[in-house]
Amino acid sequence: MNIILLGPPGAGKGTQAKRLVDERGMIQLSTGDMLREARTSGTDMGKKVAAVMDAGNLVTDEIVIGLIEEKLEGDNGGGFIFDGFPRTLAQADALGELLASHGATLDRVVEMQVDDDALVARITGRFTCGNCGEVYHDVTRPLPADGKCVNCGSTDMKRRADDNEESLRTRLMAYYKQTSPLIGYYYAKGNLQSVDGLASIDEVAHSIAEVLG
Ligand code: AMP
Repeated sequence: MNIILLGPPGAGKGTQAKRLVDERGMIQLSTGDMLREARTSGTDMGKKVAAVMDAGNLVTDEIVIGLIEEKLEGDNGGGFIFDGFPRTLAQADALGELLASHGATLDRVVEMQVDDDALVARITGRFTCGNCGEVYHDVTRPLPADGKCVNCGSTDMKRRADDNEESLRTRLMAYYKQTSPLIGYYYAKGNLQSVDGLASIDEVAHSIAEVLG
């Protein structure tokens, strides 16, 4: 089963994608993670996108479609979870064509609904373990008293350069102008399902499981 997790920055797409990977053996394809990796490894593409990402704007369709195209060549395990892709109508069209060329289909698009005030609070307190990617929050999920990651024990924590209020406003604007039309697009195609993204992580996971069947 191939699915899209659709929603604004901070809706919890990455957190839920990781659960689906653990519970169903699906493969998470996060274009944001791929772009951050390209930056860390210092590729030409990584250098090109750095300033655009830090400001909170979208990188070009050509770059992200190319990244996804490469990944679709590999094994799809229990299916792909598209996380943070597509973000424009052109990307959505390209994804449909790429899947069709592999004889695959898009089975569900799960829209995670959250309100904007909650997003600002979630994102500005967010940090992750630099070793394993476990997600924490200053207020809602702080590190244990020993300062070590509950998952791997590392103390190397990271905050994203674009998780600040100014970049977040640009990211939200990009979401409303460029990405939110995809809700109508997939509704019209007949595969949109919406869940309440403001519930607890377990409750959201449960709603997603119901949608996926
Ligand atoms: P994310 O981790 O999904 O929040 O993505 C972080 C940043 O990477 C975004 O703010 C964009 O600058 C860039 N990015 C990630 N995915 C895409 C995409 N599908 N299209 C354009 N830009 C993207």
